[in-house]
Amino acid sequence: MIKNSNIVIAIDGYSSCGKSTVAKDLAKLLNIVFIDSGAMYRCVTLHALRNDIITPSGINEDLLKLSLKDINITFKFDAQSKKNETFLNGQSVESKIRGLEVSNNVSAISAIGFVRKKLVDLQQEMGKTQSIVMDGRDIGTVVFPYADLKIFMTADPNIRAQRRFKEYQLKGEDITIEQVLDNVKQRDYIDENRDESPLRKADDAIVIDNSNLSKDEQLQFIVDELKTRELI
Ligand code: C5P
Repeated sequence: MIKNSNIVIAIDGYSSCGKSTVAKDLAKLLNIVFIDSGAMYRCVTLHALRNDIITPSGINEDLLKLSLKDINITFKFDAQSKKNETFLNGQSVESKIRGLEVSNNVSAISAIGFVRKKLVDLQQEMGKTQSIVMDGRDIGTVVFPYADLKIFMTADPNIRAQRRFKEYQLKGEDITIEQVLDNVKQRDYIDENRDESPLRKADDAIVIDNSNLSKDEQLQFIVDELKTRELI
């Protein structure tokens, strides 16, 4: 389906916009690799929580810097469940990294320059030899500024919180819609206002506001765009 041997599709945008869902479906359709860069920041955050690097008084950056070398992040596609699983040092952490404790701390961890440097290097490496769909906050601006297609996704914060709230409910997490909305807004604020690679739309990115779009409509929009560019 893909015309070139190696294409890169960058999907950036606000928290809980459904970027990963669309990115995953697109990668499956094109039969190329999907990388959830947010999962990588979440793994570093989980590691920091587990090793008392994040404490009530703040983040111990010296310790975090030292322990970055101990963090090994891998992804596996589980053919049976048809789900992507994230592994931290060989252990599946897929559900742990989606919990509220990690969500509440991840934006502070991902605002740290040396954390970003390490993860951006890894992400760029992943796109060197294979076609890839990567979603995140800085994929079109920093990680792959020459991506073949850049999408910037947004949606009404209340709608985003509702969607995330439903996911938490399905998992049986004890959480209120207000807590989810607070988290979404707080992450947006930190992501947009940090000094290191703040969240912003790349000049050449196409905006999708998916407040009222179905998954299929979003996917079709991107597929049409790829066809227009003669990439598929
Ligand atoms: O995409 P997701 O919501 O799982 O990302 C979790 C957090 O990781 C974001 O709120 C953001 O702070 C950070 N992140 C980032 N750069 C990326 C991907 C995620 O700073 N490329």
